[in-house]
Amino acid sequence: MCIAVAIDGPAGAGKSSVAKAVGKQLGLMYVDTGALYRTVALAALKKGIDASSKAEVEILLKEISVEMDFSENGGQVVLLNGEDVSGLIRTQQVSMAASDISALPVVREYLLDLQRNIAKTKSVIMDGRDIGTVVLPNAQVKIFLTASPESRAERRYKELAEKGEKTTVKDVLREVIKRDYNDTNRKAAPLRPAEDSVLVDTTNMNFDESVEAVAKIIRERIS
Ligand code: C5P
Repeated sequence: MCIAVAIDGPAGAGKSSVAKAVGKQLGLMYVDTGALYRTVALAALKKGIDASSKAEVEILLKEISVEMDFSENGGQVVLLNGEDVSGLIRTQQVSMAASDISALPVVREYLLDLQRNIAKTKSVIMDGRDIGTVVLPNAQVKIFLTASPESRAERRYKELAEKGEKTTVKDVLREVIKRDYNDTNRKAAPLRPAEDSVLVDTTNMNFDESVEAVAKIIRERIS
């Protein structure tokens, strides 16, 4: 039987790094669904299309192909029209466009089966915004991972600075707050904890403590 763990929560809560580490520890394949929305957003930016225009994005979706590939060691890549764009999608410009584009129901519909199909044949730990509520409502474990906006902005700033992106904590905090607003207030699959999810607030936890807290919940539920 395939096991599915859904990890949802706001931007910068540490979902991807925590889920990746927990996946390794428990033998679950880590799936970052945000990368799919980012890939569609990158396609829009490349074509100079307004990411919030339903009409323009609808046409775009007919012209592109989006795929996700996994390697033996648990690495994940996203392909746009066959090209690996995993590095190109990690900019602030793409983050903001992804936040806009993901509000369009047509985009969510376009990516739904792709996400569900991945979980059909493999045990996964899937991170996103609507995994426990929409994508995998029958997931055996659902976790809502969150932290204060300030600590999320601080962590995200460090990540971006390490990659050489020039920004400030203040700008990143503004971006985090705007993305939170977009994600929680959109009509289509808004960010909210599933009723049967367990809330984990990592504001006062370091990375190892967050990994342990999440792994413990999963172990308790699937043993
Ligand atoms: O997780 P990440 O920050 O990479 O996601 C980029 C954007 O994609 C988010 O701001 C969110 O708007 C959107 N997203 C979503 N549903 C998901 C994953 C991401 O709407 N399952």
